[in-house]
Formats: sequence, structure tokens, C-alpha cells
Amino acid sequence: MSSPEEGFSLPIEARPSLQEAARDRFHIRTFGCQMNQHDAQKMANLLHHAGLAASDRAEAADVVVIHTCSIREKAEHRLYTELGILLARKRAEPGLVVGVGGCVAQQEGETLLRRFPKLDFVFGPQNLVHLPAMVDAARARDRSLRVDYDDAPGERFDLPQRHPAYASPTPGRAFVTVMEGCDLFCSYCVVPRTRGREVSRPSAQILAEVRALAEAGTSEVTLLGQTVNAYGRPRPGQIAGELAFADLIRRVAEVPGIRRIRFTSPHPSFVTPELIRAFAEVPELCPHLHLPVQSGSNRVLEAMNRRYDRETYLEIVARLRAARPGIAVTTDLIVGYPTETDADFEDTLRLMNEAGFADSYSFKYSERPGTPAQRRGLGELDDARVQARLERVQDVQRSLTLDAHAARIGTRLEVLVEGASRHGDGQLTGRSDDHRIVNFRASGPAALGSYLPVDITGCTPHSLLGTSPGIPA
Ligand code: SF4
Repeated sequence: MSSPEEGFSLPIEARPSLQEAARDRFHIRTFGCQMNQHDAQKMANLLHHAGLAASDRAEAADVVVIHTCSIREKAEHRLYTELGILLARKRAEPGLVVGVGGCVAQQEGETLLRRFPKLDFVFGPQNLVHLPAMVDAARARDRSLRVDYDDAPGERFDLPQRHPAYASPTPGRAFVTVMEGCDLFCSYCVVPRTRGREVSRPSAQILAEVRALAEAGTSEVTLLGQTVNAYGRPRPGQIAGELAFADLIRRVAEVPGIRRIRFTSPHPSFVTPELIRAFAEVPELCPHLHLPVQSGSNRVLEAMNRRYDRETYLEIVARLRAARPGIAVTTDLIVGYPTETDADFEDTLRLMNEAGFADSYSFKYSERPGTPAQRRGLGELDDARVQARLERVQDVQRSLTLDAHAARIGTRLEVLVEGASRHGDGQLTGRSDDHRIVNFRASGPAALGSYLPVDITGCTPHSLLGTSPGIPA
């Protein structure tokens, strides 16, 4: 499982229609991984179909949902800060409905309601299907539906079938959930407790969703799951097993209109020879793999219960590169795991160079309640020491990323246009097939969601820079 915990708010249409202006408005504030971001889109869709209109500002909304992440302490603290502000507002506006969803809600449940009695409801990641009913109950001052965090079997995957998505945050791109949960119990991770055990979604449902998305103009799909490439592995008592993950990718690639396939987040243990072959044989499968490694030290990997060693990881990277030359490999890294020595840390730096990561998300270890590491009372290392290690990791990564970017100068890349560059300088932004951010100027038409050729002329550690003739590729 991966990704930054920075909060974001759904980029939904800023100017409501007259009809929408008369409706109650909702705002969803989301923290955490892409799974959470995708769940936020599902919630927005449910509330839209329940008759509410989206607001891009919490202050203008009648219903505010904070969608939480418990992977790092910082994100949890931000929940409490934002909740405090909202509940203070609720004193002046008693009709305001405030709910908390996601992993912290799953973990804390009724404790959250006891700590914040004015909070209207809490619900877990597997129960978002019940969000409209919880909102209705809160608006009717009915306090019987305030907690919902038991598994809702059979309901978690079929939301897209019930209601087609009404707005895609990024034209041309969509997420599709293929599995949820995790059985691996890494020592630092709360996910098996908050998201539950591994469950794969029936492939017929996945393919039906992909077909519907493609018919509506989506050409790039990202298959989502906590350990996404565990999809379909035979486990007692579940539907899966009809398709292995590599076969699912091949079936998605056959859907007319699908031009790019990505997936996140895989676990090294399930990178099978068939999956590596798919990188060689399926042109729609993008030449990018985000493969979390977490540490380069075998001792630390074992303490983390990651189930592979550095040699196995590097062997996977080598096989991927042989199968798909030029593939970009990115990763997640945790620094300062309890007992990590200077030698362990040096192993991580060496592995970064040997793997040649195009990019990485790196974090300081953060002890989370309910994890095996916390139960074992491992504690945390001295923060100043860990901060210094984090900075060294980020320095190494900056240099690796710059090298990877510089190697693309002078090439022509195909870019899926996502919108205006966030620098507000008239440039457009999009992603190459290997997931690099490309900021560019177009001298011709450049519709959002279209593919353009971009000639790369420069780079920064964060993005590639270029120009495009603006002719659809
Ligand atoms: S337990 Fe490990 S594999 Fe499972 S979600 Fe957490 S970090 Fe990922």
C-alpha cells in the first residue's frame, strides 16, 4: 500500500447549475492513498444520486464528510484539527451534518462519537454504500444510524453498477477497484485491521465497469487494490480464482477504447512470471510499476514481515527491465523503522541506486495503534536521526529522478492531457505512459482527455517540460 497522506478535496464542478443551486450541498475532505481517493469519488457519486450537489468548499456545504487515513500519525492529527473547526461551526449552524469515514473511523468507531458527541456519524471503508442513509438519518435528527463499520458483504464492489459516475475528476482517466483488503500483516501497517482481509471482485463486474467507462470516453484505467496483484489468488471461501491478475489485465486490454492500463499497489510477493510477461506482451499495460520496497536491509525487511529480501526484489526489477526495456520503477520507502541501524540504512541507499528508482515516496516510520510493531512495544528511533536519514533518501532520489528525466530530453512522448499546469503560467499538464508529469505548451488544439505528442526540451526533479504541435496522437 502506498502514497502520500496529504489531504485533498474532490475537484468537482465549481459553478453549480440553477437546479443544483437549490439543492443541499456536500463536501468530502479526503486524506490518504489512491484507494481513499477513489472511495471519495464513489461517495460523491452516491450523494449526487441521493439528490445533493457537490461543493468544492467545506464552508459552503450543508453536509461535510472527512474521509480519513490512519497510516501516519500526521494525517490523523489533521483529522482532529479539521473536526474541531467543523464542530465549532456546528454550534452556530445546528443543521450542519458532519460525518467521518475511512480508516480512522473504522479503527476508532464509537470512541470517536464519545470524544466528539456533536459528530453525526462514523462509517468504515467497507460501508460507504450506507452513506446516503446516514446523512438522511442525521438530517432527520435520528440518532439510530450513527455507527457503521461492520463489513457489508457483496455491497462494497457493486456501487458503479448501481449508479454510473456523474463526474470524472480527470477526463479520460478512471480508477477501477479490483480487490480490497490485505492478508499480509506487515508489522507497521493498520490496513488488514481497517480494510479487512483480502477479497477479490468478480471479473465479470470489473470488465463490465471498464466497458461502461470506455463507452463514456475513458481510455486510461488504473486497477486498484491494497495488494492489487494478489487479485484472484485462490483462497478458501471466496469467489475469486476465475482469473489470475495477469489474465485480468489481458482481458481489460481487449476492451475497445482502452489505451492505457495501470495498477496500484502491487506487492513483490505476487509479481509472477505471467505478470512480467504481460509487461512484454500487452502494449496497453503502461511501462511503469510502482512496487513498494520499504527498506533495502534484509534484517529490516524481515522485521517488517515483508516476505521478500533485497535480492528477490532486485531480481524482479531486472526481469521487468528485460521484459520491458525502459520501464520506470517507483517505490515507497520507510526510514527509521525501530532498530534500523546505520548499516541497515546504508543498505537502503544502495538498493535505491541499484534499482534506479525513477521516483519514490519516502516517510519516517510512524507507530500506529493496533499494528504488530506497536503491540511488540518497539517504540521509535530518535526523531532528529530519522529526519536526517529521510533527507538523505530524498537527496538520493532527487538525483536519480533528475537522471531519469534528463534521459528523456530530446525524445517525443505521448501525453494524456489532464488540464492546466498548476503553475498558472498557461502551460498544460499531463502524464506520459511511464507516469512522468509533463508540463508543456501546445501550439494547436489540446482537448482534456486527449493524447498529444510532446517533444521534451527540459526537466526539473518534479516534471518534464516540452512543447506539442497539439495534433492528437
Ligand atoms: S499489510 Fe503490508 S501489504 Fe498489506 S496493505 Fe499494509 S503495507 Fe500493504
